[in-house]
Order: sequence, then C-alpha cells, then structure tokens
Amino acid sequence: MINIVLFGKPGAGKGTQAEFLKEKYNLVHLSTGDIFRFNMKNGTDLGNLAKSYIDKGDLVPDEVTTKMLIDAVNANPGAKGFLFDGYPRTISQAEALDAFLESKGTQNTATIALEADDNILVARLLERGKTSGRIDDQDEDKIRNRYQEYNEKTAPLMDYYKQQGKFHAVDGIGEIAEITSRLGNVIDNL
Ligand code: AMP
Repeated sequence: MINIVLFGKPGAGKGTQAEFLKEKYNLVHLSTGDIFRFNMKNGTDLGNLAKSYIDKGDLVPDEVTTKMLIDAVNANPGAKGFLFDGYPRTISQAEALDAFLESKGTQNTATIALEADDNILVARLLERGKTSGRIDDQDEDKIRNRYQEYNEKTAPLMDYYKQQGKFHAVDGIGEIAEITSRLGNVIDNL
C-alpha cells in the first residue's frame, strides 16, 4: 500500500495534480476541502459547522476534520492506497494520521510538497475565484488569512516530516504535465 500526503499552500495545484496521480498509481484521492464543500452544498450539520470557518479562510477545528478524514478512509476498505490532499494541516492532524494509519497496519509513505511563490499563488486563487464559486477564493483578505493559517499551523509540518525522513519537494511552477512528471519521479523512487 502506498499512501501519499500531497502538501502545499492554497493554490499550489494539489487538487489538479491529485487527479492525475490517483489514476497513475491507483490511489483513492481524499481532499478534506472537497469533502467539506460537498457537505456545505448538501447542508449537513458538518457542512454548516465547517462553513463558518471556511468562508473566513480559517482552518476547521482538528477534531472535526480528523474524524471526517478517518470516516473517509474507513469508507474505502478495498483501497490500494490513499492520496491525502489538504490533510494534515496541523501537527495534531499529522500525529493523528500517523497513529490512525499505524492502527490500520500501514503508514504514510511520503509527503510531497508543491512549492510556489505566494504572489503567484494569490493571483492564481483570485483568478480561480472568478469561476470556482468559492467565497474563500474571491477576496484577497480571506486568501491572505489562509496563507497566515498556513504559515502558522501548516508550515511546521515540513520539519515534522523531514524528521521522519519522509519530506520531498518539487517545483510547482510549470506546465501541469511537467509537474505531474516531477511528482511521478519522486513516487517512482520511493
Ligand atoms: P482546500 O480546498 O484544501 O483549500 O480547503 C478549503 C478550506 O477547507 C480550508 O481553507 C479550511 O478552511 C478547510 N480545510 C480543508 N482541509 C482542512 C484541514 N485539514 N484542517 C482544517 N481545515 C481544513
């Protein structure tokens, strides 16, 4: 089983790349952002709770997010492996993921970051906001808040995974296919 954490700032291209990688490596793609948005669209209790955080660009509390992620993994018992996109985003989530995967007799194989400059990413998100319908993509203050959340809570995960010898980074700027091939090179050499 290979399990990959796709890591990067908002707008780095995790979702786009996940679409290609899940096919290539036969992985179940789990995006916590997508699961939250699905719940928001359907007006579930989870969606209503998450909306109050997401629309401001804040992270949803760890307990809520981790429970949702664990349920999503458990809903795919036949999976050959998972591609985690947007999870973990805090040290507490990373520890919860490690403990959970261990309890399933598996582990996180590698964390791969898509690297890109903030200014390029903010411009990308504002452009995406014109068509995505996402409130959190449409306002520069909310986008900046998402980066602040990233810098404070998510960036420390790089050291967490480096200490485990599991951190890899690729240049996230370029043609989509070129970036997919950079990610593939990392995965093929694991
Ligand atoms: P994304 O689609 O990954 O950019 O996520 C959109 C929003 O969903 C984030 O800005 C957070 O508010 C929330 N979210 C997604 N994943 C997580 C997570 N692992 N922990 C906390 N909040 C999350």
